[in-house]
Amino acid sequence: MPDKYDVCIIGGGPAGHSAALYTSRGMLKTILFEGNEPGGQLTQTTEVENYLGFPEGIQGYELCIKFREQSEKWGTQILSEYVEKISSSADPVYKFNVYFDELNKFILARTVIICSGSSSKILSFDGANTFWNKGITACAVCHGALPMFRNKPLFVIGGGDTAMEDALYLSKYTSEVYIVHRRDTFRSSKIMQHRVFNNPNIKILWDSEVIKASSSNEFLESITIKNNQTGQETEHNTSGVFYAIGHIPSIEFVKNTDLAIFVDNEGYILTDDDSTKTSTEGIFCAGDVRQKDKKFKQAIVAAGTGCKAALEVIDYLQQI
Ligand code: NAP
Repeated sequence: MPDKYDVCIIGGGPAGHSAALYTSRGMLKTILFEGNEPGGQLTQTTEVENYLGFPEGIQGYELCIKFREQSEKWGTQILSEYVEKISSSADPVYKFNVYFDELNKFILARTVIICSGSSSKILSFDGANTFWNKGITACAVCHGALPMFRNKPLFVIGGGDTAMEDALYLSKYTSEVYIVHRRDTFRSSKIMQHRVFNNPNIKILWDSEVIKASSSNEFLESITIKNNQTGQETEHNTSGVFYAIGHIPSIEFVKNTDLAIFVDNEGYILTDDDSTKTSTEGIFCAGDVRQKDKKFKQAIVAAGTGCKAALEVIDYLQQI
């Protein structure tokens, strides 16, 4: 017989562990699937300086381990496995099958909280992998204030609101921020564009793409940018390239399911307006994968909605 749980949480980032802490502490039998390692996107971050409660800052990985310890302390069972699929079960109480280990195993759950997050889109030019986290990153707010980026020429790639926001953020730390955009117009909101155009520290490289990253040492020193209209290539000294080209929500396990879990046109999970309830009764959603949270993409926001989801689960299980 498969194991049975009151709550199954998918995702081991701040949303997942915040939810797990509340449901476990609320005496609900809780299992959390964290994928093949602890933490979500936070593990890709070095120093986290903007998570409340850590005035000296904390390494992203260390913060994830603390989340994990706190969930476990209250009885959450954590599995280092990826969920492959969720579907409805024949059991009238434990209504959901949650499959893992390449569909070879499953557990039964009364409720599911999806906290699977999203991953940043990345590029694959020459040197992109070599300097990943050594000058190239996908989170200006996480890394931009680090000493290695201060008063250096920095490059943000993208033309949406994130790129504008990242450039504005970085412009506080250096007088030379370049936005590299593949077209000659931005898709971001006019107000954000207005702020960018009026910021003397930000310059725009239109119709441009990064084609190479180089260095004579371990950390990024320069990039080559190609103008896709003229073909002209130019080399620029820099210590930082920040991708701001969008995110991909992690929802593979709700594809090919008999459950009706509605998503928006980008794949973010839809919930009620002021709630974490999805379109399937008994399934809740929190963190970056939730359509309502996607514009924030901050660990503390994810932890907040994880808590909300847990409280809604507790309420739901008391009522049925
Ligand atoms: P986005 O709106 O999807 O913009 C992504 C940008 O990256 C686009 O300009 C796109 O270029 C470019 N891009 C995509 N793939 C690329 C590639 N392979 N190479 C080069 N460039 C590439 O994503 P976002 O800026 O992260 O915003 C996501 C959502 O969050 C939006 O709804 C946004 O409004 C919201 N948001 C809001 C705020 C705010 O209100 N303060 C802040 C951040 C985000 P093209 O334009 O050519 O397609």
